[in-house]
Amino acid sequence: MLTHEGGHAFAYYTARNVFPRELQNPTMESAEIHSMSMEFFAWPWAEDFFGEDADKYRYSHLAGAITFLPYGTMVDHFQHIIYENPDLTPDERHEKWAELTKIYMPWIRLGDMPFWGEGKAWQRQSHIYESPFYYIDYCLAQSVALQLWALMQQDREKAWARYYDLVKLAGTRTYRELVISAGLDDPFEPEGLRAACEAAVKWLDGCDMTKIK
Ligand SMILES: [Zn+2]
Repeated sequence: MLTHEGGHAFAYYTARNVFPRELQNPTMESAEIHSMSMEFFAWPWAEDFFGEDADKYRYSHLAGAITFLPYGTMVDHFQHIIYENPDLTPDERHEKWAELTKIYMPWIRLGDMPFWGEGKAWQRQSHIYESPFYYIDYCLAQSVALQLWALMQQDREKAWARYYDLVKLAGTRTYRELVISAGLDDPFEPEGLRAACEAAVKWLDGCDMTKIK
């Protein structure tokens, strides 16, 4: 949380002289790249905060980042269904959520758990009510943060240089232009997520689970 907001603060500071002022901030899916990547850049200091649980934190952070992508996409898909079918009854909406959960998160077994198993969990996702169609922005940003994470594992200096270049451009470019200018893969392309996800799965598989449990 602190490192996330620190990423936003760093970006605001870096862009302080961008003129006109309206271009100091990119749109939200790009602004979240600043923060979500900073969470990963802060990994080497995890011991200072988590002590011997640092690897547990890293595992949870990375696994959470990967599994967030299908969940966040599902939240967006659900909203498309809701807005295209405004006459659905509350029960039909729960059914749609339950169907999507099976598609996007097949590893989750909800059974007959009250609320969760009844397809009602979309009620706790406040963005659906408060910021329609915003949620996918976190997925777009995470797609880039994961690529930077993968690059950090090979060459931290290079990853930081690309990140800093992207942050310095602030709001003067669109999302896609920012990603490409940083030398990263465009997540809208069919193979755009492959390399970063493969690197993450390899890292997770390589963890000593006896230390993490
Ligand atoms: Zn943020």
